[in-house]
Amino acid sequence: MTERPVLLVTGGSRGIGASVALKAAEKGWAVVVNYARDRDAAEAIASVINETGGSAVAVQGDVSREDDIAAIFSVIDTAFGRLDGLVNNAGIVDQPARVDEMSRERLERMFAVNCIGAIRIASESVKRMSTRHGGNGGVIVNISSMATVIGSPNQYVDYAASKGAIDTLTIGLAREVADEGIRVNAVRPGIIDTDIHASGGLPDRVRDLAASIPMKRAGEPDEVADAILYLLSPEASYVTGAILNVSGGR
Ligand code: NAP
Repeated sequence: MTERPVLLVTGGSRGIGASVALKAAEKGWAVVVNYARDRDAAEAIASVINETGGSAVAVQGDVSREDDIAAIFSVIDTAFGRLDGLVNNAGIVDQPARVDEMSRERLERMFAVNCIGAIRIASESVKRMSTRHGGNGGVIVNISSMATVIGSPNQYVDYAASKGAIDTLTIGLAREVADEGIRVNAVRPGIIDTDIHASGGLPDRVRDLAASIPMKRAGEPDEVADAILYLLSPEASYVTGAILNVSGGR
């Protein structure tokens, strides 16, 4: 059990999620650093937090797998006995392709992780946060993408569509639980300098697209994390159902 508010960050081992985990710990959150495969990276983030006076645990779990979701929340329930915040951040892209080249298998994986996984993680979080279920309230920040606005033609329209569902989830869930002590908002990052571009087969994407961004540069994970930390904070106490673009004007 802990006196600190407890925050679950899915995909907290690298990129935007890792930055959120570190910044949230500085603000006093106990952090559950979820990861899918990169155990060393997740343990490293948790270690930094624990060694600097914070509280963190790294928890493996693929958000597209129902048994893994149960395991993540089992750790939260036994290690902390409470959940106050969720950053629904885990997400994937795939290789660049046109829609008429996308296999059913690709689409099922994309939506299983980015869409159904995020909704299931939100669902289990609401069960623990909502005053309707005996909880003390809480706050959820979903990570969408500017791809929902741009559509990402010739790259990954499937990814953009899966993130479009996150925008809609944010609006609907925010209204559903607004009087149950839970605020739900989203952040739409633009081009942010993380590993995700290389994982989608475009290691030079940040460099290639910088000139097309109105601010003429990619964003840093910390710049997205700062927006997320604001939405998690009491300073955003009357903000719910909002979707904040963090994209350098893109
Ligand atoms: P990243 O550097 O590739 O990191 C992805 C994180 O998600 C890792 O911690 C990874 O865990 C985890 N993850 C991947 N699949 C998972 C699964 N099935 N279950 C649980 N965790 C999983 O990505 P990022 O750039 O920080 O992106 C974070 C979020 O921002 C994503 O939702 C992404 O779509 C969104 N976003 C990013 C950008 C951008 O330009 N970077 C732009 C718009 C939106 P492992 O370390 O174990 O692999």
